[in-house]
Amino acid sequence: MHLYKNLIAGEWVGRHGVPNINPSNTKDVVGLYATGSGDDTRTAIAAAKAAFPAWSRSGILERHTILKKTADEILARKDELGMLLAREEGKTLPEAIGETIRSAQIFDFFAGEVLRLAGEVLPSVRPNIGVEITREAIGVIGIITPWNFPIAIPAWKIAPALCYGNTVVFKPAELVPGSAWAIVDILHRAGLPKGVLNLVMGKGSVVGQAMLDSPDLAGITFTGSTGTGKRVASASIEHNRKFQLEMGGKNPMVILNDADLTVAVEAAANSGFFSTGQRCTASSRLIVTEGIHDKFVAALTEKLKTLVVDDALKSGTHIGPVVDERQLAIDTDYIAIGKQEGAKLAFGGETISRDNPGFYLQPTLFTEATNQMRISREEIFGPVVSVIRVKDYEEALAMANDTPFGLSAGIATTSLKHATHFKRNSEAGMVMVNLPTAGVDFHVPFGGRKASSFGSREQGKYAAEFFTVVKTAYTQS
Ligand code: NDP
Repeated sequence: MHLYKNLIAGEWVGRHGVPNINPSNTKDVVGLYATGSGDDTRTAIAAAKAAFPAWSRSGILERHTILKKTADEILARKDELGMLLAREEGKTLPEAIGETIRSAQIFDFFAGEVLRLAGEVLPSVRPNIGVEITREAIGVIGIITPWNFPIAIPAWKIAPALCYGNTVVFKPAELVPGSAWAIVDILHRAGLPKGVLNLVMGKGSVVGQAMLDSPDLAGITFTGSTGTGKRVASASIEHNRKFQLEMGGKNPMVILNDADLTVAVEAAANSGFFSTGQRCTASSRLIVTEGIHDKFVAALTEKLKTLVVDDALKSGTHIGPVVDERQLAIDTDYIAIGKQEGAKLAFGGETISRDNPGFYLQPTLFTEATNQMRISREEIFGPVVSVIRVKDYEEALAMANDTPFGLSAGIATTSLKHATHFKRNSEAGMVMVNLPTAGVDFHVPFGGRKASSFGSREQGKYAAEFFTVVKTAYTQS
């Protein structure tokens, strides 16, 4: 079987690989992908360091052209790349093609941002002195990504890193190296000078740890679990470098008595169960006021009966498999915990068999949950959702905010007063009114508060905050 290699200092290298397995059909091997060592990682960091002086001073037209070519090729190959993504991660083909298009849009956006780089010129408070404020690239950026958005998350870190003149060492999640390899191959062929972008696939405990331990990374941008995020933070403080963390969520969706029932059910079904619930912005707590509670639960349960769980590549599938055996065990453990805690299993809860061997789980809905139960406080990262009954809006808002996390929060209501109050008082980084908590635009900031995120926002023009450093220069005339 063909071995997809790592890209280090402009060369494809690697002798050993691990199989990339399709979670919809574990007999299907997507490909063999190189697994890098600590030495490979250190060589990649050295190559990125050597490439930095020239790349950080490269012309904006060169950077624009490479990012634009990349966007165009990803878009032209959206069906093929979407198929690869669905095969390796298990989200449905339409979801995977949508994510691929989004990745192209992100490269396109930052191709534009290169042409909009600007600074400020101000008079000094002292006579005959001028002040210039400019942004500069920070150096070598380490990029560590999770498995749940294999092409979009790498895009929203790699595109701004290169746009602002940084060089990169990129380590994707070991479960989904295929999409990562494909976008690095596209960027490489688009004309990146050697060493500017290095791909080191391999284990987090080896490649990721070697990145954390390196004194030569000027910044690490990380998306993944809270546990690994804390390691990134403490290692970065040790090395006096910038870091940016996007971690978990336990996102609430409040459903008020005056909500449009269809809007509320569609938003809850989408954000709770689509992409198999494996989104950091998924709604895993539905906080429902008592006047609509029973109607809402009945309508959501009817909706869940219509959702088809099957092979991600089959047309008609609404929910693909869980990503792997380990995550499936986590999901089923939490289902057992929910039952023990006294929540009522209103729908699902069982693993299921399909034509091919895969990690299939029914969408699972608990009702009569409380906000203190573990299923309501800890991130499950699967298609498992709790419904919590509350008296009124005030109790709902307090409960929505009563969580260690703060990524996304939603409300379904027809009341302008409550929608406005919720937008102002939610302790989440992103707030949605009559929309799923998941599903965001590519040109505006993304990120959360509390244990969900640390550092400046990702995406849109706010990305410049992490990927650049400000310089203030004074000139006497
Ligand atoms: P992990 O934290 O396990 O992994 C994330 C990345 O970190 C992977 O590339 C992993 O490599 C790497 N890693 C693991 N150990 C180390 C280490 N010691 N040093 C450096 N890197 C390491 O998370 P998952 O991939 O399992 O993703 C699921 C989690 O991510 C969920 O909790 C979810 O909420 C969160 N997430 C948050 C998002 C957000 O934007 N807030 C978005 C997506 C996911 P390897 O794969 O090889 O182990």
